[in-house]
Amino acid sequence: MIIDSQKTNSTSSRRSFLKAAAGVCILGNLGGCNKRMNDSNIDEGPVSDLDHEIGRNILRQYPSIDIHSHLGRSFAVGGEFTNETTSRMDGGFEIERIQDMRNGLVTCSMLSLVADIQVIEFSGERGVGPYRKFDVGEAIEDFYRQINRVKSLSSLGILNIAKTSEEIIQAHRQNETVVLLAFEGAGFVGEDLDRLEAAQELGVSSINLIHYRPSEYGDSQTLPPMYGGLSPLGIDVIKEMNRLGIVIDAAHASFETTQDMVTLSTAPIILSHSHLKNMYEESARLISGEHADLIAESGGVIGSWPSGYQNKTINDYVDETLRLVDRVGVDHVAVGTDLDLNYKPVITDYHQFPELATLLIAKGLTDVGGGKSLGVNFLRVLNAAAKVASN
Ligand SMILES: [Zn+2]
Repeated sequence: MIIDSQKTNSTSSRRSFLKAAAGVCILGNLGGCNKRMNDSNIDEGPVSDLDHEIGRNILRQYPSIDIHSHLGRSFAVGGEFTNETTSRMDGGFEIERIQDMRNGLVTCSMLSLVADIQVIEFSGERGVGPYRKFDVGEAIEDFYRQINRVKSLSSLGILNIAKTSEEIIQAHRQNETVVLLAFEGAGFVGEDLDRLEAAQELGVSSINLIHYRPSEYGDSQTLPPMYGGLSPLGIDVIKEMNRLGIVIDAAHASFETTQDMVTLSTAPIILSHSHLKNMYEESARLISGEHADLIAESGGVIGSWPSGYQNKTINDYVDETLRLVDRVGVDHVAVGTDLDLNYKPVITDYHQFPELATLLIAKGLTDVGGGKSLGVNFLRVLNAAAKVASN
């Protein structure tokens, strides 16, 4: 639980920085510095269409990247699910989502396939957890089912799969959209670390090693600890991901596992979707301030998560995002929507990005700070991972 004087101090330092920066115009095409709206007005109702234009201008100026999505639920297409939760899920609406990205001026979505989708389930009391083990060969077979779905959309020209920051910047310049491919969970790797390179060759740019099933690689936030951090195999996986330049995602990993990842990795670590705990709501998926600090110390970013934990509206979500900024600094915050698999989401559509951008600016970020949080920070991480690999 992080309710401490540091928060108050860092909040006031962000605000005083903003006052100091208020006279500096950074974005020429806005016709001057952003008008600041009164926070109390923002909380009273939706911002107007006119005000959304502030956000649209930010999104035109900077590439925006959702660092964690299940865009159109590609993972569900063609799955033969035996459990209650996933058998009811529809999937395959990527085309609509790409159109939503265009309409919302979102440049890039990190489309995460779900490595353990066949073996997890939702249970009311304990949230999501494992319900059976993988059969022999099932995990790798399911990896190919999911990746083939995305590849087929790519070969039809429906999705453009990017791998580098240059490709994302280029897409932004041309008003195009791209996806980065990711996997949530790494069960398909098993003990065969060559599969990491094979995944990368198929376009996978980032993997969060740990999800809801018990992992070979380290402890999770939601299951009893087995290793006290990373397992010996998990250590080898981190080294191999660094060698290849795959971005390491610590989402769902326990504090100790994240600590081990940060100590070991020569590249920044991301935590693609979570936010800070507060004193009112308990969820094992939320993180402490110290947990967030680990990611910042690695040079990485935390994807602020618009889930229903602690958020009822997009306004609440922006407040949570700014709490993260206050804790770790504006260089270490990103957006990780978790569309289309989030828990009671307050962002349900990419159309909301102009409103999100507007609110971030209205509630205190500078234009540059907004641009960084909405995407530019992650470009830095992607470059750093590639640089470590090339050394
Ligand atoms: Zn997740």
